[in-house]
Amino acid sequence: MKHLSLKIKALAVLTGIAACLLPAAQAQEKEYPEPEPMRPGMSEYWTPQPRIVTPGDILTHSAPSDAIVLFDGKDLSQWEEPGHGEARWIVHDGIVTVNKKAGDIRTKENFGSFQLHLEWSVPKDIEGESQARGNSGVIIQDRYEVQILDNYQNETYVNGMVASVYKQTPPAVNAMRAPGEWNVYDIIYTAPIFKEDGSYLYPPRVTVLHNNVVVQCNTIIQGSTQYIGFPKVSPHGEGPIRLQMHGDPSKAISFRNIWVRKL
Ligand code: MG
Repeated sequence: MKHLSLKIKALAVLTGIAACLLPAAQAQEKEYPEPEPMRPGMSEYWTPQPRIVTPGDILTHSAPSDAIVLFDGKDLSQWEEPGHGEARWIVHDGIVTVNKKAGDIRTKENFGSFQLHLEWSVPKDIEGESQARGNSGVIIQDRYEVQILDNYQNETYVNGMVASVYKQTPPAVNAMRAPGEWNVYDIIYTAPIFKEDGSYLYPPRVTVLHNNVVVQCNTIIQGSTQYIGFPKVSPHGEGPIRLQMHGDPSKAISFRNIWVRKL
């Protein structure tokens, strides 16, 4: 039957006659195998098995076994201060407080896509309003800021409020805890891929959980987060995670329990 089928096809090509014009009787003689009936195993695969990771304590947000611990309450050995060298923020009582006489700090290591956990708190007696109240930020790959700001009963422009992609996308909701309490960020970041002309083939994307509430869900980052002007796109590779020292006059905020997993 296979031979007959091939002959028919060959004849159709040679003569320029489409197979669909063959006499009905001839077409009926062709037989084709039925697809094999599906079995469960046909849509299952077993390798590679995902590696085993021991999760941290979800009540304390401790790092899972494959995380890089960036700050465990002891020192800033994983960090540096751009333009200065040693990170000069103040480590005390298992936390690190921004040093407003110093600059930003950033990781010594560069990262592409990642899952980042960090916790931050503004002083209970913080004062100030709008952007001048506990301003800091997580600046991904040295150019894309997820805003940190005390927006507990404090309004500002929404695309610059807490958990916004700064000057781009507001958070879905305001999940702030009150001053003096600890806020938790879990940030899942997908690094961009660039075309040869320097524009994004795949733009960077970010998902942010603020106190376990999804406030950015696979949000496209349009470019660098500019204070003045609009996002700029320029090719880059992996980069550090930077924490912002903002020059606003309000009391300095603190961080603790910072860890990252490369994706
Ligand atoms: Mg900021």
